[in-house]
Amino acid sequence: MPEGHTTHALSARLNHAFAGSPVAVSSPQGKFAGGAALLDRLTLLEASAWGKHLFVEFEGERWLNVHLGLIGKFSVVPRPDDQVPAGGQVRLRLMNDAWVGDLRGPTVCAVVTAAKVAQIQARLGPDPLRPDADPDLALLKILRSARPIAELLMDQAVLAGVGNVYRCEVLFRHRVDPFRAGSEIRPTTWLAIWDDLVALMPLGVAFGQILTMDDQVADALAEVVDGSAAAHTAVVTGAQLGDHFERRFYLYKRTGEPCRVCGSTVRTQLVAGRNLFWCGRCQRRR
Ligand SMILES: [Zn+2]
Repeated sequence: MPEGHTTHALSARLNHAFAGSPVAVSSPQGKFAGGAALLDRLTLLEASAWGKHLFVEFEGERWLNVHLGLIGKFSVVPRPDDQVPAGGQVRLRLMNDAWVGDLRGPTVCAVVTAAKVAQIQARLGPDPLRPDADPDLALLKILRSARPIAELLMDQAVLAGVGNVYRCEVLFRHRVDPFRAGSEIRPTTWLAIWDDLVALMPLGVAFGQILTMDDQVADALAEVVDGSAAAHTAVVTGAQLGDHFERRFYLYKRTGEPCRVCGSTVRTQLVAGRNLFWCGRCQRRR
């Protein structure tokens, strides 16, 4: 499932491919024909992301709002020579001479006004991938809530961009009891989680995959520092998941297997509609 790093990587790819020039906008599948006609041939000014929401500004104060949901995919790939690729189930297609962006299966795909964009963004909590984000806004909501922290981290009105994988893994990294009420979480714990997300999520953007294990995080950071990460970022097209690093997590989808730290059994339970994975022995902090 796409988390915030996916949306941010997508906005960067859209800017690289389309920003600053007119774009042919269509709906090969037909479901978005009306919306596509409102944007067709307009100049795409800039794409940006806030959590799992994508906002693409076109000239004339028209905005495209996309939310991929659980199964949506938005691939941005070089256009085959002088060919128009098959449409199939493509809800929205952006195209110029060099690039094709195909959106399939989104939860939201709509043309909206600037006022509507502001309204949607006002409902969202701070996004660790945005430089303007304020973690205290999330902390205020967490401290006022009796809901478990594992549920709050998934609530996009509290914190925008974190999905199930980052939720499970970051709670484990800080050894936090996922069932603790928000009101019982120490502010220093929250700020440590936030700082960790601010460090981890850009690696997700750079490599097109969620990295949370210390050894992989260290390797990824080294590649960012020496510049080789940029080559991976450039080849991640959005047509597939990144695979530069082995797909490996502390807990995610490891039900019944031994905790990598203490050896006790990884457990799972539905929290906020998704399977939470946790270690009952390691995760006791609040
Ligand atoms: Zn453990």
